[in-house]
Amino acid sequence: MRRAEVAVVGAGAAGLVAARELLREGHAVAFFEKSGRTGGTWAYDPRADADPLGRDPASPGAVHGSLYASLRTNLPRELMGFSGFPMAGRVFAGDPRAFPGHREVLAFLDAFAEESGVAARVRLRAEVLRVAPLGQGERWAVAWRGEDGEVAEEVFDAVVVCNGHCTAPLVPKIRGIDKWRGKQIHSHNYRVPEPFRDQSVVVVGFAASGIDIAAEISRVAKEVHIAARYSEDRLGKIELYQNVWMHAEIDGIQDDGRVHFAEGSAVAADTILYCTGYRYHFPFLDLDGLTVDDNRVGPLYRHVFPPKYAPNLSFVGLPFKTIIFQALELESKWVAAVLSGHTALPSEEGMMTAVREDYRRMEEAGRPKRHTHALWPEWVEYMNWLADQVGEPHLEARRRDVYDRVLKCIWSLDDRYRDRWEEEEESATVATLQRKGSI
Ligand code: FAD
Repeated sequence: MRRAEVAVVGAGAAGLVAARELLREGHAVAFFEKSGRTGGTWAYDPRADADPLGRDPASPGAVHGSLYASLRTNLPRELMGFSGFPMAGRVFAGDPRAFPGHREVLAFLDAFAEESGVAARVRLRAEVLRVAPLGQGERWAVAWRGEDGEVAEEVFDAVVVCNGHCTAPLVPKIRGIDKWRGKQIHSHNYRVPEPFRDQSVVVVGFAASGIDIAAEISRVAKEVHIAARYSEDRLGKIELYQNVWMHAEIDGIQDDGRVHFAEGSAVAADTILYCTGYRYHFPFLDLDGLTVDDNRVGPLYRHVFPPKYAPNLSFVGLPFKTIIFQALELESKWVAAVLSGHTALPSEEGMMTAVREDYRRMEEAGRPKRHTHALWPEWVEYMNWLADQVGEPHLEARRRDVYDRVLKCIWSLDDRYRDRWEEEEESATVATLQRKGSI
């Protein structure tokens, strides 16, 4: 068994669980975190970037976090723990709700870091500036800047990249945007609804954050217009709300400055708020044969290993639209097992063939390149595939059902699902027991 010296870049949820799994597998870990604390995204930052759209490609991420003040998880706590360290059944920051606020998740991650022993290994305020292979990638040089501003370089056997991917805004190009005279902001910089009071706001995007933010803003705004793909069956006013309308995608900005939607309607608005996701961004990596193209990081074998540099360079945490914390843990276990030699990877060519096959299947299914790391609807296959690599059991049916149920709740547009959850869980349990004749 090989004991590798591994650098982990980033101490968010991905880096923390990666460090735990690497240590458990007997590796030595040097753990770099550019901010002053662990927890990554879950450390709420009230600041926003100077540019509300984060357009400067050279410096996105002056503010790393993208959480808004009122944010509650969109997955219940039973889906947000790690093995041996569940989030359910324990309260970490006084918020016992099934879908807790962000402080509770941060406190959970703090407790996890402490109790798993990884907190002591984190070098805080240590920003990785460059990661480069030596030779064919048998070893890797990591240049990093410490708190004192000094830049140092260290050499490792392997590097695990866990720098997060919810920081650099992805903003779609809108036809005629030069005619737009209102404000524009990306959800990365949304914190509180107050600035939107009495405004007419167009919210672009229909994923979890878009839905939550639209609902929150509607309580103070004059009107909220959601522009979304795949919304054909719900166009028009949304019954649940006084002042929220659903539209198709934005078709463009009209000459009179109004926002024109693909279904034919148009509105005059004060602000366009983009809830359109994030771009992958690795400012410390400049590697031959590894690119971010239309938000596809590639080529990557199963979202983790670039074939050319495997196994000594890996990425944990790229996929989304799955049970994220569990995916982070499975990917971390896989990386740790591959580095120690417990699990083997195919040859470089074998991995490339698998990558090409994945891309071909995506194309056939009509899925755009930019959705490469969005796992839904094949998320269960990926989780089970990872589990197979590391000898873990397949995803429990209960977790799969809970996840599917949450997605339905999110897409129902009714943000009260979180508070109803526990009640519904209780009645579902009673119904099951009654069916079984136990009560
Ligand atoms: P991050 O948490 O972003 O951590 C990355 C870390 O890397 C940061 O600490 C950063 O400072 C550090 N770093 C970056 N660059 C460098 C460098 N060069 N050198 C050193 N350190 C560096 N997930 C869920 O499971 N449930 C939810 O309900 C949920 N809600 C979400 C809501 C919002 C609004 C957002 C944005 C995300 C949500 N997520 C949710 C997804 C969330 O991103 C993941 O849960 C998880 O926190 C990702 O962890 P990570 O470690 O990959 O990234």
